[in-house]
Amino acid sequence: MIILKNNQLVQREEAIIDMEDRGFQFGDGVYEVIRIYEGKFFLMNEHLERLQYSLTETGIEFDIKKGKLAEQLEDLAEKNQIDDGAIYIQITRGIAPRSHPYPTEAIPTLMAYPIPISRPIKLQESGAKVILEEDVRWLRCDIKSLNLLGNVMAKQTAKEAEAFEAILYRNPEHVTEGSSTNVFIVKDGKVITHPANNFILNGITRRYIHHLSNQLGITFEEDVFSVDELLNADEVFLASTTSEVMPVTQIDDYTIGNGEPGSISRKLLDEFFKHVDTDQIR
Ligand code: PLP
Repeated sequence: MIILKNNQLVQREEAIIDMEDRGFQFGDGVYEVIRIYEGKFFLMNEHLERLQYSLTETGIEFDIKKGKLAEQLEDLAEKNQIDDGAIYIQITRGIAPRSHPYPTEAIPTLMAYPIPISRPIKLQESGAKVILEEDVRWLRCDIKSLNLLGNVMAKQTAKEAEAFEAILYRNPEHVTEGSSTNVFIVKDGKVITHPANNFILNGITRRYIHHLSNQLGITFEEDVFSVDELLNADEVFLASTTSEVMPVTQIDDYTIGNGEPGSISRKLLDEFFKHVDTDQIR
C-alpha cells in the first residue's frame, strides 16, 4: 500500500509515527474520511473545507489551499488503484517534547491512505438495529478531532448488543447524533435533524441530504428532538460517508414505524446515487 506522508508518497512500512507526535500522545489532531465511487472522489471540496475548519478551530497551522492536497489525494487513490473505497486523512499538530500547551515550532504531520469500504447494501435494504447510549463526549463535537474515545466506547457497546450503531443523547430531551453518524427522524413527511452546532459533527452526508431533500421537495428542519420523539417517529435513518443513508428499524426493543425501511429514507437513498457522479452541495 502507498501512503501519503507529508508531501511524499511512500510505502506503508516507511510511514512511521514518532513517539512524540502529538496525535499519538494527546489525540492532538483532526481527520477526514472521503468516499470514492467508481474511481472518483465524492464531495472532496466539502471534506477539505471541513478539514480546514477543524484545523482552524484547533489552531493547527496548516493551510490546505496553499498546498496541493486535492491533487496529492487524487494521485494517492490512483497509485493504489482505488475504484470503490475511501481515503483516510489525518493531520496532527506535529512532533514536540511532551507538554500540554501548543508547541511553537512543531510542523504538522499529515498521513493519508486508502481504507477498504464497500456499500452496506444488505443492511440498507433490511434496516438497521441500533441502541441508545448517553452522550458523554466533550462539547466541541463540531471539530472532527482524533479524540474518539467516547465514540469508540459507544460503538463497542452497540457491537456487544449486535447493533449497527449507538444513538447518543445528552438527556431524555436531547438526542444528538450517532457514534459515527448523524441521526434523522421523519415526522408527518418532514425530515428533522439536530442543528449544526457544538453538540454534533456537521456531516457532509447530512448537508448532502439537506440538498437532496430540497431537490425532492421534502421539508428539512434543524431542531432538537427527544428520545420519546425518536422512538415515536414515522421513520428514523442515519447518515455518514460510509453508511450513506441507513434506515433504522429497531432502537433497543422498540420497532420504528412498521419495522421496514420507511419511504422517505428509501427515496433519499435512491436519490443519493442519481447524483454521485456530478453533484456538489453548493
Ligand atoms: N457524526 C460523527 C460523530 C461522525 O464521526 C461522522 C462521520 O464519521 C458523522 C457524524 C457523519 O459525517 P460525514 O457525513 O461527514 O461522514
